[in-house]
Amino acid sequence: MYWIRRRKRSRVSSVTKHYVAHKETSRAVIQQQLQYWNQFYGFHYNRVAIRNQRRCWGSCSSLKNLNFNYKLLFLPRHLLDYIIIHELCHLQELNHGQNFWALVQLQAPDYKAHIKELRAIEQGGLSAVRLEKLKEKDSAGVVVHNTI
Ligand SMILES: [Zn+2]
Repeated sequence: MYWIRRRKRSRVSSVTKHYVAHKETSRAVIQQQLQYWNQFYGFHYNRVAIRNQRRCWGSCSSLKNLNFNYKLLFLPRHLLDYIIIHELCHLQELNHGQNFWALVQLQAPDYKAHIKELRAIEQGGLSAVRLEKLKEKDSAGVVVHNTI
């Protein structure tokens, strides 16, 4: 009985460990890119939280708090930037209407291609290990993400 419990606990903690090990690096990169892209938009935001989420890359609340998945760190940089731009634009337009996409397009003119790339990545799940491998391949120029 004790043995089974121990095994269960250690499996959970390997996911947590990965998160804890990368959370601050992820926060630094995300904060830096937020500031970079917001030089253009100049929107006001409050708290920025870095979370370990299974199904969501980022979110923006009506209280102007931003949440980002620490796994953004393992995406190709242009996709990380797209998600940051996307959430920044929700500070102005908290919906996915025409005005929202017009704002996104100002700094991410290829956003439709980015969305397709993200969907292709999401199909395999958001395991951090898998994303890390994808990024390695991507930066070596071996994998071209399917845009269909
Ligand atoms: Zn959105």
